[in-house]
Amino acid sequence: MDLKSGYPYWAIKNGLMHAFPPLRADLRCEVAVIGGGITGALIADELAGHGHEIALIEQRDAGWGSSSASTALLQYEIDIHMIDLAKRYGEADALLAYGKCAEAIGMLQDKARDIRDVDFACADSLYYASKRRHAGVLRDEFAMRLRHGFQVELLQHDDLRERYGIGAPVAILSHQAARIDPYRMAYRLLARLQERGSAIFDRTGIESIQATSRSVALRTTEGHTIRAGHAVLAAGYASQHWLKKKVAQNRSSYAFITDPIDDQALGPLKTTMLWESARPYLYMRSTGDGRLLVGGEDDSVDIPAKRDARVEKKARTLGKKVAGLFPHLPLAPAFAWAGTFAETEDGLPFFGVHPQLGPRVHFAMAYGGNGISYSMLGAGLLRASIEKRRHPLSELFGFGRLER
Ligand SMILES: Cc1cc2nc3c(=O)[nH]c(=O)nc-3n(C[C@H](O)[C@H](O)[C@H](O)COP(=O)(O)OP(=O)(O)OC[C@H]3O[C@@H](n4cnc5c(N)ncnc54)[C@H](O)[C@@H]3O)c2cc1C
Repeated sequence: MDLKSGYPYWAIKNGLMHAFPPLRADLRCEVAVIGGGITGALIADELAGHGHEIALIEQRDAGWGSSSASTALLQYEIDIHMIDLAKRYGEADALLAYGKCAEAIGMLQDKARDIRDVDFACADSLYYASKRRHAGVLRDEFAMRLRHGFQVELLQHDDLRERYGIGAPVAILSHQAARIDPYRMAYRLLARLQERGSAIFDRTGIESIQATSRSVALRTTEGHTIRAGHAVLAAGYASQHWLKKKVAQNRSSYAFITDPIDDQALGPLKTTMLWESARPYLYMRSTGDGRLLVGGEDDSVDIPAKRDARVEKKARTLGKKVAGLFPHLPLAPAFAWAGTFAETEDGLPFFGVHPQLGPRVHFAMAYGGNGISYSMLGAGLLRASIEKRRHPLSELFGFGRLER
């Protein structure tokens, strides 16, 4: 599956950070993690950190899937409003999803502090109403979040003009958000795992999975067999390939990054990420080296060549939209790219076992605009699943909710 087009900034900035060998013989391990993106890296780290013997297998170079294309805003605000999630699953579950995503930001901060040098920084997140008719929904959303103790402020038109220089009817300012370099984080986690004795292989594809109630056998493209007690499928958007029935829709998202902009011109954007209520939404955030990373213009294109052809035009459209909001910003795109992402119907991810592959194959589908926060939560969830413990999110993030 070709997951990205153009030049994703993280891969260019960081290059191939570490060499992992391909698998050249049969292997036995307790847990085989398939996929060396940010999800596989976080899960492998969680499992190995709690005494499980893991082997991680990546078909390309590590981090080279969607994780290299991600804009990596870390937010607890997921693609579905809390008020809408509450209508669908009840307020308790809506609070569970939002509350755990807020915790995930703190967990990622701890992990970043521990692994160091991954361009992690806390930020505010400003969610503004793109249209006057969206203002009521944002007010209701704000009220529910405030009632549940989230650190939010409601900013009115004049405040927004004064503090951020944008003309919008109303916005929710959240004080719990962050940014990270996801590619660097994945690489550094995997390199540390290898240093500590875990088996990490790249350029090794998994071609087939045979699972029984007692073990899993994975066959690689080179014809080797991996026998494991459990397998974790952290294969990103390709994970759906292992299911007969799709659980998410693949889409394309577009992004560009500017050259470094001086702090004065960047103003509040240095510490505040921005996104809007229109769908698809425009979003932006700064990087540690003062660049502005802008994304959006999502569409339903799932054909790599078609997506490739759109990158330049989409970057121009994104640029025009940002210029409309911040006419003073120097916005020449230094790199532009597109990436595949997947959307579930309810905006929640899928972590856990699926009846089709039985109790020893654990899916890690961190699908949605908040994929990285989901991956952080999914790491603990899947460890609990492997250790046969209950986890507060097992049901809400599990395949069982499709039957509700
Ligand atoms: C443009 C864009 C913007 C985004 N913005 C954000 C954002 O702001 N915030 C956020 O939280 N999330 C965001 N996301 C989503 C986030 O990037 C993803 O959730 C995350 O990168 C997924 O990581 P992953 O490890 O699951 O997938 P990937 O990074 O795709 O890793 C999966 C890996 O599995 C490997 N693999 C697949 N099949 C096999 C196989 N059979 N054998 C061996 N290996 C295999 C692939 O090669 C790949 O490297 C964005 C995504 C895109 C594309």
